[in-house]
Amino acid sequence: MNCAVAILSVGDELVLGQIEDTNASWLSRALQSIGRTPGERRTVGDDRARLADALRTLASTHAAVIVTGGLGPTLDDLTREALLDVVSPGAVLVEDEAGVEHLRGWFEKRGRPMPASNLRQAMRPPNARLLANPHGTAPGIAARATFDAHVCEIFCLPGPPNEMKPMFDNLVAPVLRDDANVVATAALHSIGLGESTLAERLGELMERGREPSVGTTASDGIVSIRVRATGPRNAAQAALEATIAECLSRTGNIVYGRDGEPLAAVVGRMLAERNLTLSTAESCTGGMLGSFITDVAGSSAWYMGGAVTYANERKIADLGVPAATIETHGAVSHETAIAMARGALARFNTHLAIATTGVAGPGGGSEAKPVGTVYVAVAARDGDVFSRRFHFPGDRTTVRRRTAHLALACTRFALLGEGARALLWSEGEAVRVERA
Ligand code: AMP
Ligand code: MG
Repeated sequence: MNCAVAILSVGDELVLGQIEDTNASWLSRALQSIGRTPGERRTVGDDRARLADALRTLASTHAAVIVTGGLGPTLDDLTREALLDVVSPGAVLVEDEAGVEHLRGWFEKRGRPMPASNLRQAMRPPNARLLANPHGTAPGIAARATFDAHVCEIFCLPGPPNEMKPMFDNLVAPVLRDDANVVATAALHSIGLGESTLAERLGELMERGREPSVGTTASDGIVSIRVRATGPRNAAQAALEATIAECLSRTGNIVYGRDGEPLAAVVGRMLAERNLTLSTAESCTGGMLGSFITDVAGSSAWYMGGAVTYANERKIADLGVPAATIETHGAVSHETAIAMARGALARFNTHLAIATTGVAGPGGGSEAKPVGTVYVAVAARDGDVFSRRFHFPGDRTTVRRRTAHLALACTRFALLGEGARALLWSEGEAVRVERA
C-alpha cells in the first residue's frame, strides 16, 4: 500500500487565488524532513460534499492525509463535517469537553465574551480526538479512516500558518516520523559570482543522480547551493555534512551563510565582533538597504542610521557632497558615491558607511550610463574608500534589490580585506581612495 502522505488544502480563498497556499509547500518540505514522502496535493473550496469526496479519495490511497483550513467558527468552515462523513458516515458531531474548556479559557484570559459560534470549534466526530492549539481558538482533529484492509491517519490542522506549523511539529510529526528514510536538506548562500561560474566550481558535485544531490538557485544576486541527502536519519545527515564541506572547499569565501541566514545579519555579526558601526547613504535604493539591515534583530548594536538623499540638493545639504562633484561627474558616478559615503561617515560618526547611487529605470538612462548602472561606495573611517560600478540587469525593482544585496556584499568583502574584489555585475576595476 502507498505509504505516502497526502495534503489537502481547504478554502475558497485558495481556489480563487486570493491567498497563496503556503501551507502545502511548507508541509511538503516538513514531511520529507521527517522521512515521509508527500504524495498528492489537492485544493478544495468550502463545500462539504466536495471536501468529503476529496478526503475519502486521498485517505483510501495514502497512509495519512494532512488537511489544513476550514476549522474556523463560521458556517463556511466545513472540515469537521467532511471528516465526519468520511470516518463516521451517518453519525453526528459530538462536543468535546476539553475542547470547550480550551475555548472558555481562551476568551476568559482575554477578557472577552465567547461568541456562541465558537463552540462549533469544540465539535468532533465521535471516534476522533482534538489536537490542542496553544496559538488560536481552533483545535486540530485527528481521526482514523478504515477502508477494508487499508487504514489512514487523518490530521486536520488550522489554516493560519502560525497555528498550523507548531501543531504539525509538536503533535503530528512525532506520529508520522520515519527515521529510516529522511530527506535531509541544507542551503549555502553565496554572493559575488554568477550561477554558472559557481556551478563550474562545484563541478561533478552537481551531476544528476549524485547522492547527496547538489543544485543551485539564484535570486537577486544571491546564488544558493542546495544539498539534499536521503536515507536513514544519521547516515543522511552525515552524507549531507560531507557534501557541504566539499562544496565549501570549492567555493571559498563567497559563501556567506547557511539555511536562510540573511546577508545583512552576517555583515552585522562581522561588525559586532570588531566593535564597528555602520551608516548608509542611499539614493537609488531609497531606504531599502537600511530596511534590509534593520530586518536583523539587534542591528541597533552596530547600525547607527542613514540618509535617503534622492535629490541632488539633499546629497549636497545632508551629506556635504560638493555641488561641483555632482556638476562635473554627475549624481551617478564614482565621485558622488565616494563623497556620499564619506559624508555619511562624518554625519553619523560611524566606522563604516555604504553609499548607493544609480539609474534604476525605466527612464533616466543614457548611452554612457544606461538603466541599471549603479555605483556603490564603502568608506572606512580609518581606511580606504572603495567604489564599484555595477551594471544590473532587470526592471526597477530588481535593480534596486540587487543594488541593496551587492552593497552588503561590498561591505562584507571590505571587512574581509578584499575591498576591490571584482563581483558579479561589477564593471571595470574598483576605484580606491586612500584614507577617508
Ligand atoms: P480557515 O481555517 O479556513 O478559517 O483559515 C483561516 C486563515 O488561515 C485563512 O483566512 C488564511 O489566512 C489562512 N490559511 C488557510 N489556509 C491556508 C493555506 N493553505 N496557506 C496559507 N494560509 C492559509
Ligand atoms: Mg476557511
